[in-house]
Amino acid sequence: MKGGENAATAAAERLLRECSITTLPVTPFELAAANGIEVQGVDLAGASGVLLCSGGTFGILFARTGRNEAFQRFSVAHELGHYHLPGHPEALFAEGDVHRSHAGFESVASYEVEADHFAAGLLMPRQLFKAAVLRGGDGLDAIQAAAAACETSLTATAIRYAQCADEPIAVVVSSGRRIDYCFMSDELKEASDVTWIRKGEPVPRESLTYRFNASANRVRTAERDEAASDLRLWFGGGRERELVEQVIGLGAYGKTLTVLSQTPDSRAGLLLRVSCSRDSIRPDGPGREVGWATGMDDGRLLCIRSLRKKVFRFMSRDAASKRQGRTAPRGSRSAPERAAACRAHRARRPWLVRPASTLRPP
Ligand SMILES: [Zn+2]
Repeated sequence: MKGGENAATAAAERLLRECSITTLPVTPFELAAANGIEVQGVDLAGASGVLLCSGGTFGILFARTGRNEAFQRFSVAHELGHYHLPGHPEALFAEGDVHRSHAGFESVASYEVEADHFAAGLLMPRQLFKAAVLRGGDGLDAIQAAAAACETSLTATAIRYAQCADEPIAVVVSSGRRIDYCFMSDELKEASDVTWIRKGEPVPRESLTYRFNASANRVRTAERDEAASDLRLWFGGGRERELVEQVIGLGAYGKTLTVLSQTPDSRAGLLLRVSCSRDSIRPDGPGREVGWATGMDDGRLLCIRSLRKKVFRFMSRDAASKRQGRTAPRGSRSAPERAAACRAHRARRPWLVRPASTLRPP
């Protein structure tokens, strides 16, 4: 994200702290009322919402037809962004007392983009959002769970998911054979051999999304599908990297949401959900951070993802096995074997708390 967009998200999260809002879903209507702003749903063509300013008094209108309730909440949060963000009222009301908005990450105008990022931060504040995502699992499952918790649209939630991810993830919205827009996680943007996807580019012909979009009925009935894919198909580059491509039709909106993420198998061999505190990694126990860990061929435990930051920590398999009298997972098994072993290890919880001094680097 750019500086202004980051600042907009941070401004929304600051507003929530000032208002002592610590639970989901966040209600933009209540926040507007607390600021003395009247909000009304109206029939509105060609705009998602309107911010009115007359004699120092503000009002918000939002389009009540055409899009769902989640989008209406996002539209109101977008207008609140224009109200709260420094410089917005001055710029938007320089020549009149009405600002017509195009919320939902479809406009490229800087004030609109900033207000969208404010809305995302307001309805999906990072810490609460990440907790909702972790409860939901991975990829599209996590996005659907977070969308339900935040009462946000699948697309807005998917975009926030990519923003908050600390692994390579891309979210693509497409219509037919064209890509409307794509959001990439920082981790993916930083990969050196990746070509960024631009608006209007064609959907790759070999992709599941391409086949899915060939049936307008699948899009309209909000069907869901997934298939194995390869990073090179979407982003070029020389190295083969396994991805899972998940698609869901966005119903009456007429577009398709695609989530491209790493499979657990491509992240590493065998994954265990773990809690990471400053000096320990252990499965599903109490801890300040939650992440994923995997057993490696040489028997060490590698924590590959945590809630707050990436951590790479290692634990001796021998030491853990001795303590528990069990064999640690190995990364060299076939995929079904790894899945079975993962379930078994999750159930048995063989890993113990290890002090940081016994964790050794690769
Ligand atoms: Zn606007």
